[in-house]
Amino acid sequence: VVDTEFARRWLETATAAVTREADRLTELDSPIGDADHGANMRRGFTAARDAVAKEPPDTPGRLLVRVGRELISTVGGASGPLYGTLLRRTGKALGEAATATPEQLGDALRAGVDAVAQLGGAAPGDKTMLDALVPATEALAFALDAGAGLAEALAAARSAADEGAAATVPMLARKGRASYLGERSVGHQDPGATSAALLVAALASAAG
Ligand code: ADP
Ligand code: MG
Ligand code: MG
Repeated sequence: VVDTEFARRWLETATAAVTREADRLTELDSPIGDADHGANMRRGFTAARDAVAKEPPDTPGRLLVRVGRELISTVGGASGPLYGTLLRRTGKALGEAATATPEQLGDALRAGVDAVAQLGGAAPGDKTMLDALVPATEALAFALDAGAGLAEALAAARSAADEGAAATVPMLARKGRASYLGERSVGHQDPGATSAALLVAALASAAG
């Protein structure tokens, strides 16, 4: 069930994952960026985890909104406002309820991902976080429609996000810093798509 504890488990696992993988995210951001993505994500999620521990939100929606706000205020660069928008919009879409159904979570995530696309002006294929987020939300909706439970549907979303991140390697970047490199952006995995896959994997482990 999607409740405040579920959201808290996601935040703990996500914070641990971006902390553990910070060096790899920064390494991916070296050839096609400014080598700060791991540090950005670790700083943002650590601040969000601390804020939530200090003043625990009482619904999953409020918890996600709180995380989004912390990311916006502590992470500079492109990824702070984009991930902040993703979480704030997803949290707002969940509303004030103490629990959400898997379908409501899927719809809320879709709204959050749409808001990222709107804010950043990117689409799948542009070599951004959307290349992991869009397939993940589509796989989630597809699995739920087919009758899967929450854990099974989020496992499908996790696989889709991993595949989506890997598929950014041959892409030419059209948004963000990597786009300044033109053809030289080809042949590298996008750091934001890689961190997005970590956040989706954390959702799957919160359910399972
Ligand atoms: P910065 O590029 O400002 O240093 P980060 O390194 O933290 O910020 O994040 C870079 C990631 O942000 C990229 O790998 C990409 O996935 C994502 N990104 C950048 N611009 C956009 C955009 N317009 N839409 C979606 N994602 C974007
Ligand atoms: Mg960067
Ligand atoms: Mg930067």
